[in-house]
Amino acid sequence: MNENRSLLNVVNPATGERIGEVPVSTPEEVDAAVGAARRGLEEWRGVSGLERAEIFHEVSRSLRENADGLAVLMTREGGKPYVENHDEVGWAAACFDYYGEIARDNVGYLPAPIEPQQLALVVKEPVGVVACIVPWNYPLLLASWKVAPALAAGNAVVWKPSEETPLASRRVAELVEDLLPDGLLGVVYGAAGVGEALVRHEQVDMVAFTGSQETGRKVGQVAAERLVRTNLELGGKDPFIVCDDVDDVEVAAQGAVWAACLNAGQVCTSAERFYVMKGVVDDFVEAAKSFVEDLKIGDPMDRATDIGPLINEGGLGRVEQHVGEALDGGAELVSGGERWGERGFFYRPTVLLGARPSMRVMREETFGPVVPTVEVESLDEAIALANSVPYALGANVYTEDFEKMLRCMRGLRAGTVWINDPLTDNDAAPFGGQRGSGIGRELGREGLEAFQETKHVHIDPKIQRKEWWYPYGGDEPESGQRTM
Ligand code: NAD
Repeated sequence: MNENRSLLNVVNPATGERIGEVPVSTPEEVDAAVGAARRGLEEWRGVSGLERAEIFHEVSRSLRENADGLAVLMTREGGKPYVENHDEVGWAAACFDYYGEIARDNVGYLPAPIEPQQLALVVKEPVGVVACIVPWNYPLLLASWKVAPALAAGNAVVWKPSEETPLASRRVAELVEDLLPDGLLGVVYGAAGVGEALVRHEQVDMVAFTGSQETGRKVGQVAAERLVRTNLELGGKDPFIVCDDVDDVEVAAQGAVWAACLNAGQVCTSAERFYVMKGVVDDFVEAAKSFVEDLKIGDPMDRATDIGPLINEGGLGRVEQHVGEALDGGAELVSGGERWGERGFFYRPTVLLGARPSMRVMREETFGPVVPTVEVESLDEAIALANSVPYALGANVYTEDFEKMLRCMRGLRAGTVWINDPLTDNDAAPFGGQRGSGIGRELGREGLEAFQETKHVHIDPKIQRKEWWYPYGGDEPESGQRTM
């Protein structure tokens, strides 16, 4: 290897130790990956939907067979508990199975033609070469939500994993290399510079991006200049509402803590703001306190660990800042509120009471294991507060009152509303954000269509002169749709 090459140093967030390195892709390698993807497209065009589905089931099988090893890599480079990473590999595999099948069923449709003898077809075609740019928090799942539908729709892909978590992605690339045509799925490694080189590459036809709002804006700007399609899955600040009809407040509090602390709070759909109605707020806070204090923090490789580290010192610092500012501003610390352990980037699960809407912990993405709780007088107040930030990814509600469920369903601005079952994703249903949380959808049929171009083909099998052509002759025009 060239000794002057830049390297990505991969650090274990549980220990702070360097555990590996991956060479940063050079501009020539990015260019070569895009070129190979374009050539791979041609071969992929000759593979039928049925054959593609069979290949996808092979990919899925390979992921499942290698789930243990992949989960170890993901845990060491990303710090998410092993149990959660193992689940993630299974979900990524399921995504390939799902898109292998539904792509066979979604190649277009027949609208009614203008004249009875004609045929109108709507043909769904691949967009071309798709750049898939992925964050570190769910490195394989979020890649599969793009790579699987993009390939299933007939595209080629160049995938850029996050600079924080390249190791498991590299292993997946090795596992699937022999299953797919040469170059069809390329992988490039690096940080912002490599991502930007992909977005700017003239042979890239579409960018599917998941990451922060700030980066999403930059990606969107470059893509707009180039007039290429984007799918942007951005950050969130999800609200969690607990209504006063809930009898088992303990279960709601446990659901709340899980929704806030899963992956140490580093989920785009982490619940980050808790609006709890007056009648149940005391019981909620007491149950949340007792539940977080029983959670096991520590080595994410340990199967019993509930809470692993944050991804890096920067992530940990942001959580400290948000909690510190809330406490300085008068919020009450119910539990936690500090780092944990001698090394690594751990933060104790934290419960706050009485945070105000203007505080950053209630407005900006904290991305840490924090449950900032606010007492509300009514459901209307909770919905208004829930809609008061410029994010709208997911929203959670606890209630068994059907009328309240309907009010929340209609009133909450969010791409997903979960009622009594926080954060459950479904391959078959679309996922994504409204407002500042993104543009476009992944998963479901929408998640396939995101990677399809639409072509309308209008066929008249008979060659004959049309009466509405020249010469017009000066008569009053007929009403009705013929031409533009
Ligand atoms: P990030 O925006 O810093 O980076 C995301 C990816 O973009 C990385 O691969 C990075 O290298 C790349 N990148 C950075 N600058 C770029 C540029 N100028 N051009 C092209 N690519 C560039 O995000 P992160 O810290 O890796 O991930 C955390 C963020 O992702 C949070 O905001 C979280 O909410 C969000 N997220 C959203 C979803 C969702 O589905 N909506 C899911 C998971 C995470």
